[in-house]
Amino acid sequence: MISNVKSGIYDNVVEIIGKTPIIRLKKIEEYFKVENEIYVKAEFLNPGGSIKDRIGKYILENAEVEGKIDKGSVIIEPTSGNTGVGLALYAISKGYKTVFTMPSKVSLEKELLLKALGAFIVRTPTDIKPEAPNSYYKVAEVIRNLIIKKQKFLNDNELSEIVSYVQQLVRENKLDKLQNILNEKVENALFAYIPNQYSNKYNPLTHYEFTAREVWEQFNGKIDYVFAGVGTGGTITGMSMYLKEVGTVKVVGIDPVGSIYNLVKNGMKIEEALKQAHTYLVEGIGEDIIPATVNLDLVDDIVVVNDQQSFSMTRFLAKAEGILAGGSSGSVLFGALKYLKEKNVKGKKVVLIFPDTGRNYLTKVYNDEWLLKHNLEIDDEKILEVLL
Ligand code: PMP
Repeated sequence: MISNVKSGIYDNVVEIIGKTPIIRLKKIEEYFKVENEIYVKAEFLNPGGSIKDRIGKYILENAEVEGKIDKGSVIIEPTSGNTGVGLALYAISKGYKTVFTMPSKVSLEKELLLKALGAFIVRTPTDIKPEAPNSYYKVAEVIRNLIIKKQKFLNDNELSEIVSYVQQLVRENKLDKLQNILNEKVENALFAYIPNQYSNKYNPLTHYEFTAREVWEQFNGKIDYVFAGVGTGGTITGMSMYLKEVGTVKVVGIDPVGSIYNLVKNGMKIEEALKQAHTYLVEGIGEDIIPATVNLDLVDDIVVVNDQQSFSMTRFLAKAEGILAGGSSGSVLFGALKYLKEKNVKGKKVVLIFPDTGRNYLTKVYNDEWLLKHNLEIDDEKILEVLL
């Protein structure tokens, strides 16, 4: 039995990743007259503030086992958010260095957060194709190639030099130079490693091995529904793999308006779906690609939620339950309640995955001015009336 009460004494912060508690949303059940028991898997209580601590740890542990990294390796990942924090926490515990590439639109706060955890940051332009040599995906590869070319474990000064050089190439738009570095053949080596959460099998496997197993044990197998947002799809795919093995839990994904998951799930070709794809404000869920880490066949249904519904519910949740969660938790809660009402589901045990803390969004979701600037309403109760 996995204990979900962490009251022990631990050797480092990585040891307290996972084993998160379950919290029932009694006030929400009452207010919306939900005739089901609604529980939350409190992933916002992970030490780095999100469910991504789990994959940071498990992906790097497996990279060690497979001989892909060793003390002194540089971990490089194109990420602006939670995955960076998860990787950085594990990297600190084992003496790896971290570099994150992120588009310029990402807030300064996120850059400072990762820097506080010892990471180097390279900024790339926003709104360019992933294949462009100055995209945040490709710049991560540029950095990896330059490190591996040195054929040694770098110290901080040496790494800082490479990071500054690449940042300069990007800033000065030296696309040819970047492309040349990308074209150079380098053998995979221990000196630098890109985990790539969008293709790494240990992303979904984290949730198969841990998140789903924990939930199953916490409820002694007595659950009927799991609702989770779909970003890389790691959470929902891994959890569903496990839950379909041990029982008959229904697994429902939450997708923001503008993402292609719901369209592709309903049979639309990716090229067609892409024509309808557009940007949205909620962070961490939805995609305009179908990554290797998602298996939509394992997702029973997908509910679509818009920014307004997500944010109103996130804000309402904080006031109703004292749970300060990120915007995608509001998406999951809104989507779940809508689904249960529309399908007239009653008397079931329902588990929602709340991926991250709301502290990262105080200046956004929780800031009236920001919402108004984006033409969104701040009267949350009025927006949520549709669920009554
Ligand atoms: N919500 C937030 C805030 C996230 O950062 C993520 C991860 N992208 C998700 C939801 C979705 O998780 P997954 O990538 O496992 O689908």
